[in-house]
Amino acid sequence: MNLCDFAPEYIRAIQPYQPGKPISELAREIGLDESRIVKLASNENPLGTSPLALDAMIHALYEVARYPDGSGFELKAALSKRYNIDKEQIILGNGSNDVLDLAARVFLKQGVAAVYSQHAFAVYPLVVQTIGAIGISVPARDYGHDLIAMLDAITPETRIVFIASPNNPTGTLSSAEDLLHFLEHVSRDVLVVLDEAYNEYLPEANKTDSIDWLKRFPNLIITRTFSKVYGLAGVRVGYGLAHPDVANLMNRVRQPFNVNSIGLAGALAALDDHEFVQRSYALNRAGMMQLTDGFRKLSVEYIPSYGNFLTFRVRGDAANTLKVNQSLLQQGVIVRPLGIYEMPHHLRVTIGLESENQKFLVSLENALGELA
Ligand SMILES: *Cc1c(COP(=O)(O)O)cnc(C)c1O
Repeated sequence: MNLCDFAPEYIRAIQPYQPGKPISELAREIGLDESRIVKLASNENPLGTSPLALDAMIHALYEVARYPDGSGFELKAALSKRYNIDKEQIILGNGSNDVLDLAARVFLKQGVAAVYSQHAFAVYPLVVQTIGAIGISVPARDYGHDLIAMLDAITPETRIVFIASPNNPTGTLSSAEDLLHFLEHVSRDVLVVLDEAYNEYLPEANKTDSIDWLKRFPNLIITRTFSKVYGLAGVRVGYGLAHPDVANLMNRVRQPFNVNSIGLAGALAALDDHEFVQRSYALNRAGMMQLTDGFRKLSVEYIPSYGNFLTFRVRGDAANTLKVNQSLLQQGVIVRPLGIYEMPHHLRVTIGLESENQKFLVSLENALGELA
């Protein structure tokens, strides 16, 4: 069709984002009952959703004939109280992916550039390419962000730097010291997007007072999400915290009702469900031990992770990694291959319930056995 030839070249060059394989799809493919399939592919919360959020969302269902509150008044009020910031500093998004996209749409255009790390979250290059701006990928160091090299990669045309800490899919964390050094040396003409989607999974000792940094750095935006520890990935709520001027521009660009009413109700309730967050955190710590112990017993190399997932390497060539992935699927376990992240030797597994982790480890042992 000729019409599509008129779409800009940078749009036609976009590689489609590959989400984790849905349970229903694998069930159809291998003829296994859905209940026997374990999905550890999308860093979802294995405990499901906060019960308080679920209750709030059920009530919100009765009101879906009405448009949502486009200003997100109540959720913003709760976030502003939680973080001791002004409501004018908050941007709500249809997932934090939406906030990343808004940042790109506000600050990028053709001819200007954004910097991100090799092996960083796939949505950064995606939102940059959608604008037709230039994406600069900086080689990773020990799988993590090389913040010094990223500083060096900034040109006068650079308007955004994306930093994920912890990063997905590598699980690496940038230290507070390194982040502060970066912020102190980067030009104020560059927006620094600090993506903290996994912040709530960090042990206290590893948390930074990044929100405090907003007072010092007007070019900083912190993004967080309700998709991970709060268990609300399906209703799509995330947010950004920034200088009021930055937030103001982003709020002008967003769709007027970009966060739906079910998501708003769920997020508001989830924010106060400390018990659920604590349970999710504790389960993740235990699962992290279970999986890393399992990897060590199987002599599987993994990247130490600060998130709710682990990325591990399959020995031998990249074909082995695909074979292991295929074998895991045949056994009813869905993990994430990382070819699009330039990590063709690795697979990423989300930390699940104890029984799910166990099934994964047994299946992995089988899969590795089949290789020999
Ligand atoms: C999961 C994830 C997000 C969150 O995406 P949502 O759109 O909020 O669901 C953001 N950044 C990273 C690095 C992630 O892994």
